[in-house]
Amino acid sequence: MGNADNRTKRSVMTIDNYIGGFWKEPASGKRMSNLNPARRSEVVGLVPDSELGDLNEAVEAAEAARRAWRKLTGAQRGALLYKAADLLESRMDEIGRTMTREMGKTLGEAKGETARGAAILRYYAGEGMRPVGDVIPSTDSEALMFTTRMPLGVVGVISPWNFPVAIPVWKMAPALIYGNTVVWKPAAETAVTAALVTACFHEAGFPAGVVNMVVGEGALIGQGIAEHPGIHGITFTGSGNVGKRVGLIALARGAKYQLEMGGKNPVIVAADADLDLAVDATISGGLRSTGQKCTATSRVIVVRDVYETFKAKLAEKVKALRVGDGLEAETWLGPCASEKQYETVLRYIRIGVEEGAELLFGGRRPEDPALAEGFYVTPAVFDRVKPSMTIAREEIFGPVLALIEAADLEEAIAIANDTEFGLSASLYTRDIGSALTFIQEMEAGMVRVNAETAGVELQAPFGGMKASSSYSREQGQAAIEFYTSVKTVFVKP
Ligand code: NAP
Repeated sequence: MGNADNRTKRSVMTIDNYIGGFWKEPASGKRMSNLNPARRSEVVGLVPDSELGDLNEAVEAAEAARRAWRKLTGAQRGALLYKAADLLESRMDEIGRTMTREMGKTLGEAKGETARGAAILRYYAGEGMRPVGDVIPSTDSEALMFTTRMPLGVVGVISPWNFPVAIPVWKMAPALIYGNTVVWKPAAETAVTAALVTACFHEAGFPAGVVNMVVGEGALIGQGIAEHPGIHGITFTGSGNVGKRVGLIALARGAKYQLEMGGKNPVIVAADADLDLAVDATISGGLRSTGQKCTATSRVIVVRDVYETFKAKLAEKVKALRVGDGLEAETWLGPCASEKQYETVLRYIRIGVEEGAELLFGGRRPEDPALAEGFYVTPAVFDRVKPSMTIAREEIFGPVLALIEAADLEEAIAIANDTEFGLSASLYTRDIGSALTFIQEMEAGMVRVNAETAGVELQAPFGGMKASSSYSREQGQAAIEFYTSVKTVFVKP
């Protein structure tokens, strides 16, 4: 993996690709610098700027490994996943610190995510021992008819920077347990964290070529995965623009694909809501990870009767949130993950003001000179946002909440549904009838009542509707649908 000594300290790590069981320099010899978004002068790592030749080599290694890997029993594959889980868990502090330095989320969140990665690996390790098919009554009395499943073959994993452990692990763990080999292209921005995850697979003893990691520009290596004829399935999480492109390329060449993309997730606060609960969950769902979650709350639709009271309670608590370096224990909100994210957030704040929304507070650089070197934006709350405004329609992916007033629940649900996205949505109410109406009417893959939009449980299907997803589901037992093909078997003596 390069000079990974003293990893938890502020050393610069030099990262290699991982191909066919070996750490390998990129053929170009070139590397990109990953900076700490809390302190831009600090280089966290030097990560490969790979070429298509590196990708081709990884696909060849994955192809060479796949028959033997598929022939192992589910229990044998599962045993390796359990080992990787133990390694990931035992390195939670090191991986968490690296993640915080590389993309800014708080250490508590980063360690929690690493622990979640271990739990996901264990969940899928267990799947290796569970049934995968059905016996179906045949109309022929002599025949036995049943379904079984085949792995896809080589799976290409393209993952984003916002959950650099959990998202790739929830893709790789099911891919592997169901008998596929993997070529992973992590987001270059979090490739040091990705290398630490890959090291867990390596040290767990996965056979050479079963897991491969190639780091490089998305437009080259990510697109290369989408186009590569040796890759049979592509699982992508990231922005809509890139995802749609990946999907079109995969469709054109007949590869299976799965896309999880953006969101514009609404919270609805009904007149009878527990307002303190709604405020706390809106803050947690909207501003944890600096708002950089696909499931982050970004539209807060409040019924008129409680609008002013809710706003006052929300404002008081958001103003008190402490912005700072995620490595410091008292920090609640870290920096934006990169200069690009930082500029995007500030641009949307300008657009919000220009279009006439009232910026209640936040949305600027913190005054503390100790934070001058980081990509910090104070959490912003916009008041009286109209559903037609840009900040109510486009994904910002930052610490920005847009308050929208609705006359009643019916209008609130109509506003919530008036978006191209459909990932997660929450309602706060004490009324079961309102809850049922919301559950039935809301166009989102995950609907939650009296719980934040960003809650995710690894054993439940995860995914969106509309432009948020290609409608397939990740996590839990739903993952088997993507990572395998059903084969119907008919046998006669
Ligand atoms: P992104 O720019 O679309 O990047 C995602 C991945 O695609 C990265 O690995 C990126 O590589 C790669 N990529 C870039 N250009 C590509 C191309 N032309 N062909 C193939 N791959 C390419 O997204 P992001 O900024 O990393 O992540 C933020 C987005 O992800 C948000 O929209 C968020 O909502 C979404 N997200 C969705 C979910 C979900 O489950 N629905 C979860 C998390 C995040 P490089 O970064 O190395 O260039």
